[in-house]
Formats: sequence, C-alpha cells, structure tokens
Amino acid sequence: MANSHGNICEYIEVCGFFNAATQARMTEMDDLIHLYCHGGDDLECARKRFLLAIKRPPPDGMLPNGQMLRA
Ligand code: SF4
Repeated sequence: MANSHGNICEYIEVCGFFNAATQARMTEMDDLIHLYCHGGDDLECARKRFLLAIKRPPPDGMLPNGQMLRA
C-alpha cells in the first residue's frame, strides 16, 4: 500500500522505531527512514501493517522492512 500522501508517515510521532532511530542517531537506519517513514517510495511498512492488523504497536525492534533488531 502506498504511503498515503507520498510523504511523511502518519504514525511518525508515535512510532517506536522512528523515535529510537532518530534519538540515538542511528545513521544506518537513514535509508529505511527515507524509504518508509519519509515516503520516498511506495513501500508498505511492516510496522504499520502490524499496527493495523493487531491493533497495538509493534515491538520497537521491528524494522519497517519487517526484520527484527536483536535486543
Ligand atoms: S517505521 Fe513505519 S510506522 Fe514507523 S514512522 Fe516509519 S513508516 Fe511509519
């Protein structure tokens, strides 16, 4: 599913991944943030899919591409 407006994700302010990655300045996550959170491409975020399906936030370690970070 496309990012609704082709730009910023509507969950960006409450997203555990986005907030953790930006606060910790994880530059290795810049590409994922660009592709998913900033909606550079029409990629479907796994975290968003989880939230909509399960009706609760995904684990913070879940990346937008569906991979899990190790604790
Ligand atoms: S990780 Fe997914 S839900 Fe979180 S801000 Fe980025 S696109 Fe939105």
